[in-house]
Amino acid sequence: MNLTEIMQAAYGKTLSDCTNSEIYCALLREVNAMAAKKQAAPAKKKLYYISAEFLIGKLLSNNLINLGVYEDVKVQLAQAGRSISEIEEIEPEPSLGNGGLGRLAACFLDSIATLGLPGDGVGLNYHFGLFRQVFAQNAQTAKPDPWLSECSWLTRTEVTYPVVYRGLEVTARMYDIHVTGYGNTTNKLHLFDIESVDESIVKDGIDFDKSDIAKNLTLFLYPDDSDDAGRLLRIYQQYFMVSCAAQLILDEAVAKGCTLHDLRDYAVIQINDTHPTMVIPELIRLLMARGLTMHEAIAAVNGCCAYTNHTILAEALEKWPMAYLEQAVPQLVPIIEVLDNRIRRKFDDSTLYIIDKDERVHMAHLDIHYCYSVNGVASLHTDILKENELHNFYRVYPEKFNNKTNGITFRRWLLHSNPELTQLLTSLIGDGFKQDATELQRLAKFAKNPVVLRKLLAIKEGKKAELKAFLQKTQGICLNENSIFDIQIKRLHEYKRQQLNALYLIHKYLEIKSGKKPKTPITAIFGAKAAPAYIIAQDIIHLILCLQELIANDPEVSPYLHVVMVENYNVTLAEKLIPACDISEQISLASKEASGTGNMKFMLNGAVTLGTEDGANVEIHELVGDENIYIFGESSDTVVQRYAEGSYCAKDYYKKNKKIARAVNFITGRELLAIGDEERLTRLSRELIGKDWFMTFPDFDAYTATREKAYADYEKRMEWAEKMMMNIAMAGYFSSDRTIAEYNNDIWNL
Ligand SMILES: *Cc1c(COP(=O)(O)O)cnc(C)c1O
Repeated sequence: MNLTEIMQAAYGKTLSDCTNSEIYCALLREVNAMAAKKQAAPAKKKLYYISAEFLIGKLLSNNLINLGVYEDVKVQLAQAGRSISEIEEIEPEPSLGNGGLGRLAACFLDSIATLGLPGDGVGLNYHFGLFRQVFAQNAQTAKPDPWLSECSWLTRTEVTYPVVYRGLEVTARMYDIHVTGYGNTTNKLHLFDIESVDESIVKDGIDFDKSDIAKNLTLFLYPDDSDDAGRLLRIYQQYFMVSCAAQLILDEAVAKGCTLHDLRDYAVIQINDTHPTMVIPELIRLLMARGLTMHEAIAAVNGCCAYTNHTILAEALEKWPMAYLEQAVPQLVPIIEVLDNRIRRKFDDSTLYIIDKDERVHMAHLDIHYCYSVNGVASLHTDILKENELHNFYRVYPEKFNNKTNGITFRRWLLHSNPELTQLLTSLIGDGFKQDATELQRLAKFAKNPVVLRKLLAIKEGKKAELKAFLQKTQGICLNENSIFDIQIKRLHEYKRQQLNALYLIHKYLEIKSGKKPKTPITAIFGAKAAPAYIIAQDIIHLILCLQELIANDPEVSPYLHVVMVENYNVTLAEKLIPACDISEQISLASKEASGTGNMKFMLNGAVTLGTEDGANVEIHELVGDENIYIFGESSDTVVQRYAEGSYCAKDYYKKNKKIARAVNFITGRELLAIGDEERLTRLSRELIGKDWFMTFPDFDAYTATREKAYADYEKRMEWAEKMMMNIAMAGYFSSDRTIAEYNNDIWNL
């Protein structure tokens, strides 16, 4: 790639005379042209990964890396006095996902292309994404997050489909994003949109007329579903996604000679969580419209659909009232009824029914009965599904259940986000780990080498300084780069227990006030968006922001403890925060975090995990051993048992444990009430004392003690560096290349 020639041809200017935007747009066009040339000829059988979310992050650098031209471009830019990082800043981050589930889908697309497998993503083109988080008066407000600009990775295709609802027909159009593989072929992410969408109907934050489907359908991911109109809109969106997917799948299969009876030889559909579940009845409907009997259509669909479960939280498992489906997509109702009747005839167990006694459709049940594979996303999670949550399904379909421990793409979470570390690793073990991540294990032999460990520590220091500069510039936050960076970044949810972290910080604040100063100052960093309708989550954000203000303004404590909540946590921020982290907070209530993938990104970048035996933390623990991780808290067995017995009483802990009482009382104490909102703080305090559904109190003492132990160990810096090295060395297992190879061997058979 010759940038000078490219810029001359595009703008008639030299590289140094071009604006950053011009360079960005030219690079984008060039990358797209290169990516297009690497598309493989259509394979007979193809994977369709359907997901409501694809949290892809910025694409420029990753594509340059995957196409093998990153270094070349960087050097050419530098020679003209330009910097690649300034060009990167031009690119808006599409907020087409909410959290781990959407990021997983993005990592998977990268690995599918990298392994050279024929597989495309299918999702929606939300114009305003999830939402952009803005803090005002120590609280979260939500704004639209537009990301579509003139220079976009999205290309309009000529593929259009009709999508029919009760009393409404819309026209869908397919837009494509190239998915480049690392040194391999290019696949696609298909994002569907409606022609009639109208951005101007959004007023006042993220409010809009939820009933005007033809205008609002693809405005936002996860529109507020706290009222009927919002819930209906989600059904309209889901059906739109799956109807487009189903039409695309059938068209492509038929074009390759499929007779429809043999659909399974042409298509495999991975259903990412329950949002795309309606693809099952929709495909059956379309196959019948093309001449198959119901029986034949069901068999054909069953042969190509596989389901991934992402949660055991009952409130997160979708159950749509039949009346809503009747109102939006009546054509699916008789099909769902037939599917349910077949189950009722076969099994005398109402817990297996698809339609429950309250006329609600259990989407996960529909998936499990009519998919040929059901997988969990970490070993503990899959075990809990089999033994508890989905036990009755496991008993009748043991052969369907399998585990696929999540993974992350090392191209983004190491090569791109931490080139300095990548270079050190390469100098130690060569660059084979870029293709085969298990080669990282060869680093273990350097874990006691002081010269190497000092280099590792120097890289961490450099990344801390870089983060400091970035947050200073973008958010006006001033970090102490000589402090311990203790980071919890993930969606805000009570089960993830940001409130436990906050209780620790109150405790620590009071300890410092009473004279117990930490040897090394502590910077506790949070990043989290909360669903706008999730009140307690908003209250927890409010508490953290109030603590941030209180401590920053307390000269006795602020030199030792800094609480920071970054605004609008997203992939771009994660790429800056994770390489700078010392301690990775993975403190979900055991049994509740299906896997986590943030935990893997941190580990790969030499942060040490402070966490519960939950999700993939269990597997991280097994790999790195007791010395290289900080584990605390009650086991998932104990937690599951407590829920089953209904035996947990928060108030007992509050009454008996003085430190818990002191920290909780502080939430509604004089100092915080002077800063914060009384209603929010009181509600949160009541929630904790009266309920504490995610059991922070039973883990409080262990958490506090373990966190102190980690801080004490950090003082022995060479031993700490050894832990860092062992974490990196064992991270290879968590490459999404490994995960995808397993999906392909066990489920897809491409
Ligand atoms: C990886 C990632 C997540 C998932 O984090 P968890 O800690 O696994 O919940 C969420 N958001 C972003 C932006 C991420 O990059």
